[in-house]
Amino acid sequence: MNKRIYLSSPTTHGEEQKFIKEAFDTNWVAPLGANVDNFEKEMAEYINIPHAAALSSGTGAIHLALRLLELKQNDIVFVSSLTFSASCNPIMYEKAIPVFIDSEPDTWNMSPKALKRAFKKYPRAKAVIAVHLYGTPAKLDELMAICDEYNVPLIEDAAESLGATYKGQDTGTFGRMGILSFNGNKIITTSGGGMLVSREKELIDNARFLATQARDPARHYQHSQVGFNYRMSNIVAGIGRGQLLHLDEHMARKQKIYQQYKEAFADIPALKMNPLNKDGQANNWLSCVIIEDGLVNPDQIMDALEAENIECRPIWKPMHQQPVFAGYDYFPHKKELDISADIFARGLCLPSDIKNTDEDMDKIIKIVRGFFE
Ligand SMILES: *Cc1c(COP(=O)(O)O)cnc(C)c1O
Repeated sequence: MNKRIYLSSPTTHGEEQKFIKEAFDTNWVAPLGANVDNFEKEMAEYINIPHAAALSSGTGAIHLALRLLELKQNDIVFVSSLTFSASCNPIMYEKAIPVFIDSEPDTWNMSPKALKRAFKKYPRAKAVIAVHLYGTPAKLDELMAICDEYNVPLIEDAAESLGATYKGQDTGTFGRMGILSFNGNKIITTSGGGMLVSREKELIDNARFLATQARDPARHYQHSQVGFNYRMSNIVAGIGRGQLLHLDEHMARKQKIYQQYKEAFADIPALKMNPLNKDGQANNWLSCVIIEDGLVNPDQIMDALEAENIECRPIWKPMHQQPVFAGYDYFPHKKELDISADIFARGLCLPSDIKNTDEDMDKIIKIVRGFFE
């Protein structure tokens, strides 16, 4: 069998082990400790936000963000439809009601037009969760203007977009809260983990409190609120500190991969790359293509790549098309134009692993081009 070429697998560098060793040497394996404190500090500095809480997952970070907004049962939360289910599962944990918002074609992210229509129908919605899909920043100015008009907090799901910027500012730092993920396939990984970030100290202090079982300040174990076990361990944070040293390099590699694909497909009108935001800089976490004319089905390309042991993925299947979310309301970009369903039907994610060699890239490109020549 050929060597496997991955979609986006962990890339480690050695510094991770130095930070882990420090934790072992000081017998500070768990629970919190210097690596957690420093990982929070270093990440907050990197994305330029004052407060950050390191957590066990990005999903947990979204859950805490919703909990901090004190949602009540049946409160409405608007969320991008074209995303991974982790963006909206926490809405269900809180027994709130997700309402799905379509993408717009320019960036594949939350459509301001659809969001506006959603607010017309549900002016008392309690939060908006907007995703920066595949590392491309959303149209933040437009989305934030609408949130401000209705005085509703924006939670940025920046799980896929760490390091990406919009008008020079890091994604995740625009909304009232932002969430990051360090899951195994993300641009940097801690093996698994996440972070909640905000400009408001009180929110992040409260997140740390809730994430450590909500223990009141008393000698005995006293609780006045329901807590969670969502904190990141000191070992895991050590991996994150080592990875963060290489985030710039990972981004540069991802950007190069995107450019390689773009140039290789430039002469094929039927094949377009995933769009970037002209007002921002993507981290190019995953490079995707969309087939313009419907002559080739993405499944055919995925089958051909898999036959050569090359990992690829469909586009996220939109949440409004998921059996588990059947029956919840959905606002398409335009009345008769369902953008996310169309991207799902015609697109696919190409291998974007930063360990891909030029030969790997040539091999992938040759197989994809073969369908259009
Ligand atoms: C990965 C991901 C998450 C969840 O992060 P975990 O750390 O795996 O819990 C949330 N939202 C999006 C868009 C993601 O891609």
